[in-house]
Parts: sequence; C-alpha cells; structure tokens
Amino acid sequence: MVTKSLWYKDGLRFGCTSCGSCCGGGPGFVWVTQNEIERLAAKFGITPELFEKLFVWTVKEGHRSLKEYPNGDCVLLDEKTKKCKFYEERPIQCKTWPFWDQNLNKKIFWDLMSEHCPGCNRGRLYSLDEIEKQRTAIEL
Ligand code: SF4
Ligand code: SF4
Repeated sequence: MVTKSLWYKDGLRFGCTSCGSCCGGGPGFVWVTQNEIERLAAKFGITPELFEKLFVWTVKEGHRSLKEYPNGDCVLLDEKTKKCKFYEERPIQCKTWPFWDQNLNKKIFWDLMSEHCPGCNRGRLYSLDEIEKQRTAIEL
C-alpha cells in the first residue's frame, strides 16, 4: 500500500537528456543479474560466459557489476555519443534511475542528485504509483 504522505505524492518529472553523466565520470557499480547478462550477451552476439569474462566483474560473491574504463565510464557507454550501446537491454538499475530509494528518501537527496542529472524535474510527469513501482523494482 502506497502512503499518500510521501513528499513526491504528486509525482515527479523526469526526461533523460542523454548527457551520459550517470553512466560514467567516476567509480561506481552497475549491478547485473544472470538474466541481464544473458540478454546483453545475446544482443552482443556472444555467449553469456564470454560476456561475463569481458564486461563483468564480481564485487563480492553473488554481486556482479559491469566493468568500467579507467576514467570511470561504464563499459557499455559509447565513448563518442555518450549513450548506452544497449539501451533497451540496460540493467534494471539503469532502467529505474532516478527513482531509487536513496534519491527519494528525503527531498534534499532528490534535490542534491538533481544537480548532477539534468533530466530531473523536467519531461514527463511520473505518477506516485509509477515511481513506487520503479523504486521497489530493485534493492540497491
Ligand atoms: S545524468 Fe540524468 S539526464 Fe544525464 S544521462 Fe543520466 S539520467 Fe539522463
Ligand atoms: S549499462 Fe548503459 S545505461 Fe547502464 S550505466 Fe552502463 S552505459 Fe549507462
């Protein structure tokens, strides 16, 4: 049951500008599941085993992340266009941005994050239910 007292109860606007800044520029984790590895590998035209060897590292047992280039860019970020090479197959972590717990717990967190994500507070209005579905889609 969604509580109506949340600070974002009237929804939030978001429209990605494809600036690419959330996909790189510093160290981070892009968690991937086995299903996501298999989908990405199929799109790439290689086996999941090879995809994992080339593009995935194990942070801790049972927790795998996409690799990064030395500059912090995600290994799936196109260097020239600064867009995800496999946008449709991107991991759920990427699909649910910016509606993550850590950004929604307090308005100040959303405001601080928005300073680095120009897609926030513009574009389509996401309803409370849509936001909650995305917020609870993964545990970060
Ligand atoms: S930082 Fe925001 S606007 Fe830029 S690519 Fe990421 S989601 Fe889109
Ligand atoms: S998988 Fe794609 S959307 Fe996700 S961080 Fe990497 S480049 Fe960005």
